[in-house]
Amino acid sequence: MSEAIKGLAPEQLWDFFARIAAIPHGSKNETALASYLRLVAVNAGLAVRQDEVGNLCIAVPPSPGCDKAPAVVLQSHLDMVCEKNASVDFDFSKDVIRLVRDGDWIRAEGTSLGADNGIGIAAAMAVAVSNDILHGPLEILLTVDEETGLTGAVNLSPSLISGRILLNLDSEKSDHLCIGCAGGGGVSILLPLTMTDTPAQSTALALTLTGLRGGHSGLDIHENRANAVKLMARLVLALKEYGVLLADFQGGDKHNAIPRESFATVVLPAKQLPAAREIINTRYHAFSAEFAHESAMQMNCEETDLPAGVASGPSSAAALNLLVALPHGVLAMSRQMPGLVETSSNLASAHIRDNLLTVHNTPRSSLPQALYASMDQIAAVSSLAGGRYELETPYPGWHPNPDSKILTVLEKTYEEICGRKPERTATHAGLECGVIGEKYKGMDMISFGPDIINAHSPAEAVSIKSVATFWRILLGALRKIATGAYA
Ligand SMILES: [Zn+2]
Repeated sequence: MSEAIKGLAPEQLWDFFARIAAIPHGSKNETALASYLRLVAVNAGLAVRQDEVGNLCIAVPPSPGCDKAPAVVLQSHLDMVCEKNASVDFDFSKDVIRLVRDGDWIRAEGTSLGADNGIGIAAAMAVAVSNDILHGPLEILLTVDEETGLTGAVNLSPSLISGRILLNLDSEKSDHLCIGCAGGGGVSILLPLTMTDTPAQSTALALTLTGLRGGHSGLDIHENRANAVKLMARLVLALKEYGVLLADFQGGDKHNAIPRESFATVVLPAKQLPAAREIINTRYHAFSAEFAHESAMQMNCEETDLPAGVASGPSSAAALNLLVALPHGVLAMSRQMPGLVETSSNLASAHIRDNLLTVHNTPRSSLPQALYASMDQIAAVSSLAGGRYELETPYPGWHPNPDSKILTVLEKTYEEICGRKPERTATHAGLECGVIGEKYKGMDMISFGPDIINAHSPAEAVSIKSVATFWRILLGALRKIATGAYA
């Protein structure tokens, strides 16, 4: 047993955590861990079910006298994000995570720790095998592959669990109770461009916009960071009275990131060059004033070789109008949860390749109707510009319900144990709860956990003290539900 966890309480939880850390369990490589947990459950006399994609459900009978209590699902994900520093010699497919104790923190030596979501699994398993914890009927639901697209939750068999109260143990702030998340979709737009020869007596300009902050398209969208695709399109469109034609446009990369850089090549009559340069300068200063928080923004404009062909006047206009008209940023704030973004859209990328402009958009909302409305809006703008669009199947959000009974139970439990109120939160990103809640209608859900910092990185660490508090809150809530507080 690892020295790092020696003497830590609750002992059973930490013991499970160390065993989990000793079994490789990166995303899509959860079989060995699932087999181990299955064996533990079977040895404890518990029934185990597994669905086709590998999600595991361990049924735990109620404590004596608690069989009338409603069934509770304790849910965590089996996989972890495998990250290591380049200098560290470590093979995530076979090596044991080396636990290190660092004051109040447990971390790993040179690698991610897997406290996300190993602590959640360990807590659920410790409850499952104990004989002295009061609880009603329990189902321990352990999903595969949360970290690379929620595919375990998406493919979860609709008959694997029967409980309608779900405690998701995958949160990372011990004083928060999470009660909502965003759903999301993708809309790709394909706009064919009519190409023509580059007109005689033209000049070509290479425009670059770099140094923007970018960030996560959900978690950072409320910060009104500048979108490099949007700004470049606005800049080029501002030059239209000088006869500018679009030869190339490249901006944005990942679907879930706000574009940080963009590059365009444009062609214009040589005699218009001085006037165009002046507009570019004026616009750059206007952008700097509009986005004063983008202090590293840089715009460059250089003459370059004439391209062989350019988009025609109408095609250039359609492409630029499309990019300027598409929504980007916060579209609505939540009425239930002050400060929470309810609906947003990210204009994620725009690229010209083979006479085709391809634009990707990622709208999000915790409200399904609002998500569909923003997908419709993007599709409508695409149609106005003469483009085709393709809609990705959206993944569902989790709309916050401030009247949720499980929220009341958890808030009371937290207050009794910590002597203060927890914070109600929701996140403008995807969580498994959104997907699970869509599958199992009427599921009353909440997400909580210990303090975990720097998840998904080699600096990941979990606070020992917060694990003890998290454990007390979990047991307190299970006891309350088992003794009639959830009614
Ligand atoms: Zn997680």
